[in-house]
Amino acid sequence: MKLIVVSNRVARATANEPLTGGLAAALLPVVEKTGAIWVGSSDRVRDRSQKDPFAAVEALGAGALAMVELPAAHYAGYYEGFANSALWPALHSRLDLVRVSHEDYKSYREVNAFMARTLLRFRKPDAAFWIQDYHFLALGAELRSLGVSEPIGFFLHTPWPSATTITGVPNHRELIEAMLAYDLIGFQTVDDRHNFLDYLSTELNYAVDGDTVSSRYGISRCAVFPIGIDADKFAAQAVRASSHPEVSRLRRSLLDGEKLIIGVDRLDYSKGLMHRISAFDQMLTAQPGLHRAVSLLQIATPSRGTIDAYGALQGELAKLVSDVNGRHGEVDWTPIRYLNKGFGQTVLAGLYRCAQVGLVTPVQDGMNLVAKEYVAAQNPVDPGVLVLSKFAGAADELDSALLVNPHDVQGMARTLALALAMPQNERRMRWEAMMAKLRQRSIHTWFSDYVAALQAAHLANQPDDDASEVAWSEPPIASAPHRAELPALRSVSGEGFRFS
Ligand code: UDP
Repeated sequence: MKLIVVSNRVARATANEPLTGGLAAALLPVVEKTGAIWVGSSDRVRDRSQKDPFAAVEALGAGALAMVELPAAHYAGYYEGFANSALWPALHSRLDLVRVSHEDYKSYREVNAFMARTLLRFRKPDAAFWIQDYHFLALGAELRSLGVSEPIGFFLHTPWPSATTITGVPNHRELIEAMLAYDLIGFQTVDDRHNFLDYLSTELNYAVDGDTVSSRYGISRCAVFPIGIDADKFAAQAVRASSHPEVSRLRRSLLDGEKLIIGVDRLDYSKGLMHRISAFDQMLTAQPGLHRAVSLLQIATPSRGTIDAYGALQGELAKLVSDVNGRHGEVDWTPIRYLNKGFGQTVLAGLYRCAQVGLVTPVQDGMNLVAKEYVAAQNPVDPGVLVLSKFAGAADELDSALLVNPHDVQGMARTLALALAMPQNERRMRWEAMMAKLRQRSIHTWFSDYVAALQAAHLANQPDDDASEVAWSEPPIASAPHRAELPALRSVSGEGFRFS
């Protein structure tokens, strides 16, 4: 099978450092290894006078990257408009932030259709298309309308909200019906799939049969593939990065015995940054003994800055951080180091390893790879503690973290203090349980499970084939925690802690 992976942007590998973003970080190594072609938009757009779609292709390990120039007239309506001001907020259950015009929807559909036409040039015998994320919900239907009969799969990296919430997206019926052109629709969690199937039956009146639904396109299967990381590779990277100059500078800058909490996020309202800073503030207020004994390094990488909601958040966050530092800071101690820039993954790995607590508290997140990376980067002998929102997809697997409700600021402040005081034996037991889960479901199993399921789903759509030859069954999802191995953990009262 010649796999053609499609996403809004491709990650350019510069000295092995992918661009910021979970999807980019996740796909780069699998494309390199499997020989897939990865197609996405370049940073340039193309105006109407330039008729042919243009794609610059470059080799990437065994695979290739193709960077397509999208139509200038529709780019803003597609990207900043429908994708990021209607779909993104709705998928993260923030209907209050949906801002969209009917022209934006038209541009979104135009760009999906344009990408479909462009993809035809990469079509080969035995090809299969794997479309990534909310930018291209309708791309499968556009490909089918151009006569493509090969396997076409889709994977959603964001959450899928409740059936009622998604009706807040203009043209939701037409758009979601178009998704049924995919042979396979992949989700991060069981809840996301449930919500999607619920919408199909309650809003579109489809008869859902288990995890499949029949439409005019054929049968679509909906399945769960939690995205992972290469934990051992990331761990080795973290060990090497410990001596990186930037990481050494951080270590030297800490006061004697001062502990470090780290947060790493795109500057996005889904990441719960305001609540998180407030929780740190409340902890310092409630426990003056922690002054000079702990600080927070918050990396908030700028993202989608031209969209109003993002600009507003950047302003509010900067104000809150400066207020907290102003009230608690001392001449030789700054409680929050707040950085509005991006880092390469090597440096990030080293920074995670320096921190006694990883603070990952999105109000809603598809998976959250930072949580997984923080765990993988820890020193097995003396690991840090992950404080994780129960609304991150990663919480299904990383249930040995201290799970928190990101809306309960006081509860988060208390859990944060617990994390800082956690004894080493408990930290190790929790870390080992989480690391075992990360090894069990890596980025490589995510990729191979999905591709196997796509082949099986496509074959099930072929009238003459015997689908049983490639029968694929979903691996067990979110397996139960290792209760027997962790009896001592019962005494800890982290909010949402799931061991009984
Ligand atoms: N990341 C990075 N540099 C930064 C900040 C983040 O390379 O300065 C990477 C991080 O290592 C992770 C990804 O970006 O792999 C973020 O993925 P996540 O799923 O946590 O969130 P997303 O940005 O996709 O919402």
